Amino acid sequence: MINPSGCRWCGIDQREHAQRWKPPAGWHQWEQPTQDQIKRRMQERRSTRSAP
Ligand SMILES: [Zn+2]
Repeated sequence: MINPSGCRWCGIDQREHAQRWKPPAGWHQWEQPTQDQIKRRMQERRSTRSAP
């Protein structure tokens, strides 16, 4: 599940984030998403909730 304020690379919450592998970042640590990313994720979440 996508967390709007989760890692900018993989979307995982900071508390649960250790080292994760995800392209294109590869092995990375939690990084704050951009305001734009947060906004887009919230919109995505809203649209998936109303989808069948
Ligand atoms: Zn991550």
